[in-house]
Amino acid sequence: MSAAKQLYELQELDQEIDSQEQALSLAKSQLGESQTVLKLQGQLQQDQQRLEELRRKQHAAEWEIEDLSTKLATAEETLFGGSVKNPKELTNLQHEVEMFKTKRSQLEEKALEIMEQVELAEATIAKTNKQLEGMKAEWQHQQRELSEAIERLKAILSDLRRKRQLLSDKISPQAVELYQGLRKERGTAVARVEQGICRGCRISLPTTELQQARGGNLVKCSSCGRILFLA
Ligand SMILES: [Zn+2]
Repeated sequence: MSAAKQLYELQELDQEIDSQEQALSLAKSQLGESQTVLKLQGQLQQDQQRLEELRRKQHAAEWEIEDLSTKLATAEETLFGGSVKNPKELTNLQHEVEMFKTKRSQLEEKALEIMEQVELAEATIAKTNKQLEGMKAEWQHQQRELSEAIERLKAILSDLRRKRQLLSDKISPQAVELYQGLRKERGTAVARVEQGICRGCRISLPTTELQQARGGNLVKCSSCGRILFLA
């Protein structure tokens, strides 16, 4: 095998290694927490805090209603008990009873509103919980697949690196060094020659260069400097 062909094969291996390394780092970057799951968990926590606050309000309103009912019962007992005879005092008691009744019915309305809000919040939380469970299951599935893909890519890469080592051991160190320098400088170090044209720069090559390359020598394109490879 000519040195140019060996270097061309080395280049193909290097390109394959590059692309598998890219796939590996992409897969690694996708490992970890899901932003969507985290966001939804935050939302759920807020909703739960709000629900607790609403329940506290609900209990407070219920206590207040109970308290008013007791006061109302006492006032009514006095009013209709017959112990108070003074008309002015009776009128005052009457007003007191009316005031307690109005206040209680206002509170009952408020308590009902709170209860509706509690029910709504509970429904929202149940819905979010279900959504979150689904998302978590999907995310875990993705993470498992990613971990498997990472293991596969690592195995492919170690195989490719082994092949590269075996190949580069067969090539002269000077040729490898030339190749490495060009690869660093231009991305691709070896250019195919097709129909007398360098595929690296698309320039027609002089006959002498073509002849030298055909003879198995390492020849650099006089235009782009890449190593020429005649398939
Ligand atoms: Zn060229």
